[in-house]
Amino acid sequence: MTTEQLFNKDSEYIAHSYNRFKIALDHGRGSEIYDNDGKRYIDLGSGIGVNAFGVCDEIFSDAVCAQAKKLTHVSNLYYTEPQIRLAEALCKKTGFKRVFFANSGAEANEGAIKTARKYSIDKYGESRNVIVSLSHSFHGRTVTTLSATGQDEYHKDFMPFNDGFVFIEPNDITELEKAVSADNVCGIMMEMVQGEGGVNVLDGAYVKKAYELAKEKDIVFIVDEVQTGNGRTGKYFAFEHFGICPDIVTTAKGLGGGLPIGAVLFSEKTMDTLTFGKHGSTFGGNPVAAAGALTVVERIDDKLLGEIKEKSDYIFSELSKTPNVISVSGMGLMIGIETNKKASDIVKAAMDKGVLVLTAKTKVRLLPPLNIPFELLKEAIEILKEIIAE
Ligand SMILES: *Cc1c(COP(=O)(O)O)cnc(C)c1O
Repeated sequence: MTTEQLFNKDSEYIAHSYNRFKIALDHGRGSEIYDNDGKRYIDLGSGIGVNAFGVCDEIFSDAVCAQAKKLTHVSNLYYTEPQIRLAEALCKKTGFKRVFFANSGAEANEGAIKTARKYSIDKYGESRNVIVSLSHSFHGRTVTTLSATGQDEYHKDFMPFNDGFVFIEPNDITELEKAVSADNVCGIMMEMVQGEGGVNVLDGAYVKKAYELAKEKDIVFIVDEVQTGNGRTGKYFAFEHFGICPDIVTTAKGLGGGLPIGAVLFSEKTMDTLTFGKHGSTFGGNPVAAAGALTVVERIDDKLLGEIKEKSDYIFSELSKTPNVISVSGMGLMIGIETNKKASDIVKAAMDKGVLVLTAKTKVRLLPPLNIPFELLKEAIEILKEIIAE
């Protein structure tokens, strides 16, 4: 189909819930993607942090294709090796004890919320069921994860929402202490770097305090690493920067490397909470997705994390000194750039010049593939700097 035909048929047949940019992407390799007319783009968005090693990375694609020719799906009534190997690799790499597999970030968070509630209800009775979440957070688009999301703009058209969530301002310890002093709190849930909320890194002292309060009161501490996980911030999980050890971590996006998967990781404290029949997923831990994800987990090692740090330092230093830049925030290869221009104008100008970037609130957001070659990164950052500075 021609590009114009694609635009027209999309409009005709696909629900109008996406305000898409006017390009149709066709193929790619690594950090380079080509559109339907053959124009090349350097990808600094990774499909919102999903394509950890770029698109159609050879190691990833080979593992996926091999598994697709062997066994594509069976239900979770049976054992399958890729899922088991992925869970083992995740636990060995991160120190968590057990994993539940879902298909997306929102579903992983649903699993975490259910587990936190059940943990508390089993131990303390039904009235302890409230989860404390942060303003400006994003936890997904299902009704319950939207209920957990601290941004009114996602709420207004879909009332009523689920009870059992309270919101506090991030980095305000007094508000936090007040919230957890209620005896009905079973969980605290937060992102270490609020992604959709504008690439805001939480204060170290605040995270530590929240973690300590949770420990003291046997509240389940959940870290949403759907976007920050799997090497994105320069550690396997972003919470490692904060010197804490959550009871539950959720992850998705980069774990899939390009295919849908989500995971809930349980510590010793929560590993036995979900018992037979209490949670499940038809597609969760699908063998093809798991075979691809395994290659992602295996490749996130100290060498890669070191390179992520170097690339991050380069981006921070180049953009901080660019005219019109107000601030650069984030960690590792998850970066927000506040400028005195409209973020969407920068995205469009960059696209015209062959660079794909994202936005987060008023900021331009970068989530390049973790292994983007330095030369391509430099080429793209030079273009971005020019656009921002002019
Ligand atoms: C993207 C995201 C989600 C939702 O993930 P989906 O796969 O879109 O359901 C949840 N939490 C965070 C922090 C995210 O960035």
